[in-house]
Amino acid sequence: MPLRLETEILTLKTRHPFVIARGSQPEYRTVWVRLVDDDGVEGWGEAASTRYYGETADSALAALRMYGEQLPGDPLDLERTEAAWKAQLGGNASARAALSAALHDLAGKRLGVPVYRLWGLDASAAPRSTFTIGLGTAEQMRSKVREAAEYPILKIKLGTDRDVELLEAIRSETDRELRVDANCGWSVKQAIAMLPVLEEFKVTVLEQPLVPNDIEGLGLIRQRASIPLIADESCLTAADIGRLAGKVDGINIKLAKCGSLREAIRMIAAARALNMMVMVGCMIESSIGITAAAHFTPLVDIVDLDGAALLAEDPFNGASIAGGQVRLPEGPGLGLTRR
Ligand code: MG
Repeated sequence: MPLRLETEILTLKTRHPFVIARGSQPEYRTVWVRLVDDDGVEGWGEAASTRYYGETADSALAALRMYGEQLPGDPLDLERTEAAWKAQLGGNASARAALSAALHDLAGKRLGVPVYRLWGLDASAAPRSTFTIGLGTAEQMRSKVREAAEYPILKIKLGTDRDVELLEAIRSETDRELRVDANCGWSVKQAIAMLPVLEEFKVTVLEQPLVPNDIEGLGLIRQRASIPLIADESCLTAADIGRLAGKVDGINIKLAKCGSLREAIRMIAAARALNMMVMVGCMIESSIGITAAAHFTPLVDIVDLDGAALLAEDPFNGASIAGGQVRLPEGPGLGLTRR
């Protein structure tokens, strides 16, 4: 008997308005996906759809209805099943990522091991996660920095015409490690002008300064930068990595961009083959989506899995980043429970 698919919309609110260079929204809708086997065992996943990447929760639901027509009987039939979904309907990466997570969850439960153990990984090898400080006034951002006292590494959202002032205000508040994400908000000229500022305020990583297609521009910035330059919006799947080699130092993998846990692992292999750094990031999502990505953190250099930690209320328990430390659940599969 094929697995059975159930879906449910989750409405998530962040503790503070979460503002990045592109704007913000009052609440976030994701799709909770459950694949149920004959014994009633459930595998869980979450589609964190974003308009920026051409999806909404409703488009994900529509895509899931189609993918639901091609469900395997055996959750361990991962490679063939994921390929069949992609062939049936391309795009819809967040919907496919949710199904992929749910299949891996069920596969792990069937074998009685956590997903990271299926991959032979050492959970203690995961780097510490950053916690993101969204855009605001200098005073709002300083207050968020104070509130995030438990996190040793902060990721600061920039990409405005007030970036020097904001960075100065934050640095006057904390000695902690700071990384910066401009979310495509700078021109090449602005980015090059910002490099000495980043150095002055001891920023250690610069993520996506330019619009996604300006790969040559990224290369110009990298030539002048003394800190690693990471591509996020410029890198969706493994197919994007080749043209980024030599232009950036590393890539940021997100399940909602790449569409599957197996594709994430392929991206890590491709980046490593090209001597590139690997980061894993997330959307605003519950612990379901965060935990699916957390299981491969032992393979990456930079972790930014704060999507659930930014929520006012997370409906689930899974991987945690309390104190910045990634802690993977010990239960079989993804190890998720309802809160
Ligand atoms: Mg980013």
